[in-house]
Amino acid sequence: MTETIEFQAEARQLLQLMIHSIYSDKDVFLRELVSNASDALDKVRLASYVDKDVAVETDDLHIELVTDAEQRTLTVRDNGIGMTREEVVDLIGTIAKSGTAEMLAKMREAESAGSKEQTAELIGQFGIGFYSSFMVAERVEMTTRKAGTAEGVHWESTGEGTYTLEPVPDAPQGTAITVHLKPEDAEDALHDYANPDTVRRIVKRYSDFITWPIRLNPGEE
Ligand code: ADP
Ligand code: MG
Repeated sequence: MTETIEFQAEARQLLQLMIHSIYSDKDVFLRELVSNASDALDKVRLASYVDKDVAVETDDLHIELVTDAEQRTLTVRDNGIGMTREEVVDLIGTIAKSGTAEMLAKMREAESAGSKEQTAELIGQFGIGFYSSFMVAERVEMTTRKAGTAEGVHWESTGEGTYTLEPVPDAPQGTAITVHLKPEDAEDALHDYANPDTVRRIVKRYSDFITWPIRLNPGEE
């Protein structure tokens, strides 16, 4: 059964800022998704140390980036800790952090000053990482299953007011986020995120320090 849930007010405001962001260095969305994937891998390794009995898979922990030029999507996948349905609602559907108003004000300031660096900085600093995918996405899908639990959940949104949630019985451990790219970015080769060369360049620039393996289009030449 599919449920439709409303974003909390602050989350909605932030999403609007992301969707209509024209000055920002959009490339940073990938840094944010890779950084979340890396955190999720750290967490699953930690969970397996803390409780050796939990049905947590720790083989071949890695990050996968998959481009699909035809579908115009980029998928960031990890086999890390994943999220329960409740965690998805809490972590993704709301902005549970303090200082949100301050951040929104600073974001607006940076946007109107046209400062790309400042906006990118704020995106990292305030941990609105996941939402930054809406700078480049017309729709975002996420399938996630928390390590040690049986059932996964599928989340989907255009960032406009609501998101949907649906149970996924056979999801792999971890999280896969598929960004359905805005059609207008296809014309700009440098920012065509369905192009593996673009993705490789951005990962090299922003995620070089990540210690987990990052595989771009595994299984392809
Ligand atoms: P931050 O990383 O600063 O906490 P984000 O907006 O990037 O903020 O992510 C919000 C939260 O959503 C994370 O703290 C984490 O709990 C959860 N999350 C995001 N991406 C993933 C992922 N790939 N795997 C597991 N949890 C995730
Ligand atoms: Mg993050």
